[in-house]
Amino acid sequence: MKFAVDLDRCENHGQCVFAAPGLFSLDDEGQLAHRHGASGRYTSAVLDGAGEDAVSSAVDMCPMQAIRLVG
Ligand code: SF4
Repeated sequence: MKFAVDLDRCENHGQCVFAAPGLFSLDDEGQLAHRHGASGRYTSAVLDGAGEDAVSSAVDMCPMQAIRLVG
């Protein structure tokens, strides 16, 4: 299982950082760090079980519904 972030939908609210701090962060300018090196959509590496649980929380907390589990 991986997760994907729709970067066009994301508005950098940062709730995902609280839900899954090991997988999401904001950069010095307050932008979702996954924007670096990705455009339009970011897709993660394969998650372990703890990562899947954390991302599930991030999916629930994202106000823009920009995160989804894939694979
Ligand atoms: S919670 Fe959603 S909108 Fe906010 S930074 Fe994370 S992915 Fe973007």
